[in-house]
Amino acid sequence: MPRYPETRWAWVEVDQAALRRNVRAFKQLLRPRQKMCCVVKADAYGHGAAACAQVMVRAGADMFAVATVEEGVHLRQAGITLPILVLSEPPVTAINALLQFQLMPSVYTVEFALALGESAVAHGMVAKYHMAIETGMNRIGVRSTDVVEFRRSIDFHRGLVCDGVFTHFATADDPDGWDFQLQVKRFEEAVAAMRDAGFDCGTVHCNNTPATVLSPATGCDMVRVGIGLYGLQACERTRARMTLEPVMSVRARITRTIRPAMGEGVGYGFTYRVPRAAVQICTIPVGYADGLSRTLSNRMEVLLRGMRLPQVGNICMDQCMFALTQTSRHPVPEAEDGEVVTIIGRDGDAEITLDEMAKLRGTINYEVACGFGMRLEKVYV
Ligand SMILES: *Cc1c(COP(=O)(O)O)cnc(C)c1O
Repeated sequence: MPRYPETRWAWVEVDQAALRRNVRAFKQLLRPRQKMCCVVKADAYGHGAAACAQVMVRAGADMFAVATVEEGVHLRQAGITLPILVLSEPPVTAINALLQFQLMPSVYTVEFALALGESAVAHGMVAKYHMAIETGMNRIGVRSTDVVEFRRSIDFHRGLVCDGVFTHFATADDPDGWDFQLQVKRFEEAVAAMRDAGFDCGTVHCNNTPATVLSPATGCDMVRVGIGLYGLQACERTRARMTLEPVMSVRARITRTIRPAMGEGVGYGFTYRVPRAAVQICTIPVGYADGLSRTLSNRMEVLLRGMRLPQVGNICMDQCMFALTQTSRHPVPEAEDGEVVTIIGRDGDAEITLDEMAKLRGTINYEVACGFGMRLEKVYV
């Protein structure tokens, strides 16, 4: 019997067993002693970072990566004791929080690094950091040709220890391509140059989900896996290589039904009008503020009793409507208040995936998952 949140008839259902199996499936891809950093940024891609991290710890995670200091603090407060890496360089005003909660920042400016070192010494501590290396994505990091100079400008500091160095791939979905190969080459050369100059690189890491699946040879000492853990494919090419189980479902219960007369409108702007008698309009309490993009209005479907039914009218901020139409050929029992509707996930033989919704929206599964995580309560099954 599934649990429902007490205060709202809409929720994200998180399948912990699927999450555990996905983590283990990725661990199987690793070489002996290669470590796994589980990426739980954006509240674990909308799945709830604290609860997911507990599952990941038990399934063999070695480290966590988050996007913000706040996300790292949240994991510490949830009792996570494994190392936590913040995947960008925060403002210097975040340094006290980094030290207090033992979060490792990514570092790529001398000013930040030295400020971190100074604060660490003032607190009688040594701050671990990971150095981000720019190899071609042009997002963050020390340029791959400047790494030795960078290390020389900061490594004298007794308050700093380099715990790792990393880069991030822009085109890991195409590991045979020139762009990917060039990033690999620049990264390898940067690491070699630092080692030749006598600098310890700590844990060397670069592979995200698609690179972990498609390019295990570039895996270095650790991989940073995100989307795959949640059972989502990073790209079409990984689909053929690895089966994963979706972790997130999105469900709601019908809060109200009505049979308007033919010709009546539904929702703001009446973008849908009831085309005939015998249409039942059902309301569910999920809207665009819950991640159900308004651009899907009148274009998406929901599942009820294993049937695909059209969403109708403009999606509102907190609610939307769908239609159940009776025909003489297909008479179906009326929908009732409290019946469970599936927005994402499986219902009987029918299934609506995050990929299907992403395609409709013209975006990627990552964004759709994050969106549903923002306000909906999570139920862990
Ligand atoms: C988000 C992110 C990852 C994880 O990427 P996935 O494609 O979800 O596996 C890894 N490394 C960095 C730096 C990231 O920003």
